Amino acid sequence: MKIICIGRNYVSHVKELGNEIPKEPVLFMKPDSSIFRQRDAFYIPDWTNEVHYEAEIVIKINRLGKNIEEKFALKYYSQFTLGIDFTARDVQKKLKAQGLPWEKSKAFDQSAVLGKYMNVNDYSLENINFELKLNGHVVQSSNTKNMIYTIPQIVNHCSEFFTLKIGDLIFTGTPDGVGKVNAGDELEGFIEGEKVLHVNIR
Ligand code: ZN
Repeated sequence: MKIICIGRNYVSHVKELGNEIPKEPVLFMKPDSSIFRQRDAFYIPDWTNEVHYEAEIVIKINRLGKNIEEKFALKYYSQFTLGIDFTARDVQKKLKAQGLPWEKSKAFDQSAVLGKYMNVNDYSLENINFELKLNGHVVQSSNTKNMIYTIPQIVNHCSEFFTLKIGDLIFTGTPDGVGKVNAGDELEGFIEGEKVLHVNIR
């Protein structure tokens, strides 16, 4: 399986990093080895001094699809959750400055955290509140209605380039409030007030 991630999909986050509003979705990928296994804590790698959390709504693909039309996109995912796209921001800044690919900073082991899956049918996915708490304080809080590109638009765009397969995941971008984690921190994620994710940082 593959993990496709959307960058710069909330105006508030684009501005906080000083980037430009994209004219089409910004895509990058993480390999399956990046998936965080909930049993253990997240260990900050020794090659970075600045790992940021990015809380994002994640959808799970449940049908094979290519060139999926926006109006049919909803048939291709039935579950979603809140995830964290851990990012080594210091490494990413260096790579970006040199015009190099971001993978080392975005696709490393344990960098894709996934919460408990929820059924799409139980929610209106285009209007979902989600929140991330760091040590009990809300650091990210937004709603999917603030996305620049909607989930159906994202599915349409991604599937023009990459065949979507059962089990593939799409991280749909993070709102503002991203920040650094330190050893000893605790992250908790919520969808509509329900806790779906918990990570201890070491
Ligand atoms: Zn992200």
